[in-house]
Amino acid sequence: MTNKDYYSVLGVSKSASDDEIKSAYRQLAKKYHPDLNKAPEAAEKFKEINEAYSVLGDKQKRANYDQYGSEDGPQGFGGGQGFSGFSQGEGFGGFEDIFNIFSNFGGRHREAQVREEGEDVNLNLVISFLDAAFGCEREISVTRKERCKDCHGTGAKTDSDYVTCKECNGTGRVTYTQQTLFGMTRTVGTCRNCGGKGKVIKDKCPNCRGTGLKTVTTKIKVKIPAGIDNEQVIRLNGEGNQTASPNGIPGDLRIAITVQNHPLLVRKGFDLYVDVYVPITTLMLGGKVEVPTLKGVQTIDVAPLTQSNTKYTLKGKGVKYLKGLGSGDIIVTLKGEMPKDIDKNTQKLIKELQGSISEKAYPKTNNYKKKLGD
Ligand SMILES: [Zn+2]
Ligand SMILES: [Zn+2]
Repeated sequence: MTNKDYYSVLGVSKSASDDEIKSAYRQLAKKYHPDLNKAPEAAEKFKEINEAYSVLGDKQKRANYDQYGSEDGPQGFGGGQGFSGFSQGEGFGGFEDIFNIFSNFGGRHREAQVREEGEDVNLNLVISFLDAAFGCEREISVTRKERCKDCHGTGAKTDSDYVTCKECNGTGRVTYTQQTLFGMTRTVGTCRNCGGKGKVIKDKCPNCRGTGLKTVTTKIKVKIPAGIDNEQVIRLNGEGNQTASPNGIPGDLRIAITVQNHPLLVRKGFDLYVDVYVPITTLMLGGKVEVPTLKGVQTIDVAPLTQSNTKYTLKGKGVKYLKGLGSGDIIVTLKGEMPKDIDKNTQKLIKELQGSISEKAYPKTNNYKKKLGD
C-alpha cells in the first residue's frame, strides 16, 4: 500500500524542510486539481499528490515513513519482517529503494492482503466540569470522507461504464524495467493507470468526480462517559474517513476532550479538592460551614476550637470512576480568615480575650518557643 516514493511524487528531496514540502504540494495540487486540469490522468495524479502530502506533511507519519517505509510505523509491514535488518540511508540509497525492489517479487500475494484504510479524523471538544463528572451526550459535526452514494465508491457514472485499461491490457499488472544496484531488474508491479483493476472508468461519476469519495459534514451523537478527564480521547471505531472500496476499513473518529475548570473544586484524578474560607471566629466557636459539592452545597459541622487547615473528607462525593463502581472523595481544607480591619472597640475586646486565654492553651506555640530557645 505504501511502497510508493512519496518524495518523488512531490518532487522534493528526502531532506526537504516542512515548508519546502508544503510549497511543492501546493504547486502540484494547483496544477492537477480536477477542477482546473481536465486531462484524464489529472485526477489520479491529484490523488497521488494528496496521499503523498498526507504522509510527508505530518511530522509523525513522515518520521514513520522515513524509518519504516510506512506512515503507520513498523506494524504497517504485515509480513515484512525480512526487511528489519536494513536501516535507512546507509550506502543503499535509503530503505525505500530496497523495499521497493523486493516487495515487487511475490507482490501479488502481499498486495492481495492489504485492505484500503481510511484515515482517522481528529476533533476537539470542550465540555463543562459537571458534564465531565456526570457524563453527557453531545451531537457533534464531523467533516469526513464518505463513500459516494451515487456510484457506491466505484467512481464510474454507471455500473457498466468501464473500459479495459490500455496500459496493462486488462491484466492489472505491468512489467517495469529498473536500473538498480543489482543491475537492470525487471519487476512486475501493479498497473498505476488502473490501480490493478484492469479496467478504467470511461465516464466519471459527476457527484464525486470519479474519486468514489465525497467530503461530507455529518452529525454524530457521542456519549461522553461520567468520569472523563481533561486531555482524554474518545475513539469511535469506524467513524472516521471511509474508503472508496466497500472492502476497505474506515478510519476512527478521535475526540480529544478539554474539561473546563470549576470555580472552586480542583480535580486530581477522581478526588476533588477545595479550600473553604471561614471567619476565624467560626473556627473558635464552631458552627455550620457550607462547602461546594458536585450536587450543590452541603453543610458540615465544625467543632469549637478547630485549627485552621483542618481537612475533612467527604467520602464518595468526588467524581465517579471512569471504570468500575464508586467515586472519589471531596477533600475540604478549612481556612480561617482574619478580619481585614476592626474598630477600636473590637480591638479592646480582643485584648481582653488575649488576657483571658492562658498560655498553656496554645501547645503548638509553646512547643515552638521551646525549640526556638534551644
Ligand atoms: Zn461517485
Ligand atoms: Zn491497468
